[in-house]
Amino acid sequence: GVLGSGDFARSLAVRLVCSGFKVVVGSRNPKRKASLFPAAAEVTFQAEAVKKADVIFVAIFREHYSTLCDLADVLVGKILVDVSNNTEINHHKESNAEYLASLFPACTVVKGFNVISAWTLQSGARDGNKQVLICSNNQEAKRTVAEIAQVMGFTPVDMGCMSAACEIENIPLRLLPAWKIPIFLALGLFLCFFTYNLIRQVIHPYIREQRNKLYKIPIEVVNTTLPCVSYVMLSLVYLPGVLAACSQLYYGTKYRRFPDWLDQWLQHRKQIGLLSFFCAALHAVYSLCLPMRRSHRYLLIETAVKQAMEKKMTIWVEEEVWRMEIYISVGIIALGLLSLLAITSLPSIANSLNWREFSFIQ
Ligand code: NAP
Repeated sequence: GVLGSGDFARSLAVRLVCSGFKVVVGSRNPKRKASLFPAAAEVTFQAEAVKKADVIFVAIFREHYSTLCDLADVLVGKILVDVSNNTEINHHKESNAEYLASLFPACTVVKGFNVISAWTLQSGARDGNKQVLICSNNQEAKRTVAEIAQVMGFTPVDMGCMSAACEIENIPLRLLPAWKIPIFLALGLFLCFFTYNLIRQVIHPYIREQRNKLYKIPIEVVNTTLPCVSYVMLSLVYLPGVLAACSQLYYGTKYRRFPDWLDQWLQHRKQIGLLSFFCAALHAVYSLCLPMRRSHRYLLIETAVKQAMEKKMTIWVEEEVWRMEIYISVGIIALGLLSLLAITSLPSIANSLNWREFSFIQ
């Protein structure tokens, strides 16, 4: 059974029908909404639908739960699946599922399917998130909902009892929680190195020789800053592992908990590494574009004219040539290796490697 006839209810009904379930939809206005549902789904009044189903997906917003109180008698003994989300993290004191359970104490409430979007439901678990996080205080009801999710092509994940509902409801609202610290770290490092390079390449020549080098800011200064950030970030990926090993050696055990800061640092290594790769990739693109600049062209012509005036025929300096060839070659290889590290951190690739292969690549 599905209560509600909105986006989520429609996608859910389509998916359930496609997975072989008999579906009955409860709407306040079944006549108007029936055409929106597949023909195999029965669309009827809420009370009628509730009578016909044992498992009922409540696909309406929390604010309207109280309007279902008239159905309390017919809902006795049924499993209610709370699929709702909030608009803010920890919006209410109690989770929506706990609130639903408090309104209908004679029902068994299961939290689930809220991390799946209506779109994912329609596309049939081919794309998007496949995990359905489920929690409830009733094991039997949880198992029933998990089986439904499995038949629909999703992977049910048991999150425990109802107190986990709040956490499950917060999941769709989180904005890159694991990336916050690494991004601030990268921005902080960028700011430091950018200031240093700005002083060296723009402010210092201006103060010393009154030469205006402001044009260097958008490309040259940024381009010298990016690899500095990339290298420091890369070293910050491996440093906590070394510190953790030192701590284990010092205390002579691996069963002692690391301090919180080290624990946090260890957990953010993947994001720090990916940001290091991002900076290195940007540096490669900036470097490739250096000869495109007007300033580069003017300086090149200026040098050529100067040499022509001085009647110099050749400017080839063998050592300089070799130095640059090797320098660029090593840079390309370094970027290639860093790309390999970045690729192997993708979950699909990382999961296909065993521990030895992963350590070897690291
Ligand atoms: P929606 O399109 O606005 O549909 C809500 C439905 O609630 C309406 O179609 C209405 O159906 C029903 N309803 C019952 N009593 C109501 C009342 N008193 N006032 C207003 N409507 C009432 O919303 P939705 O996007 O389908 O979302 C439904 C639930 O699924 C929400 O709790 C949402 O957080 C959750 N959810 C949605 C998505 C998504 O991708 N859309 C993803 C995850 C979770 P009738 O008029 O037929 O009664």
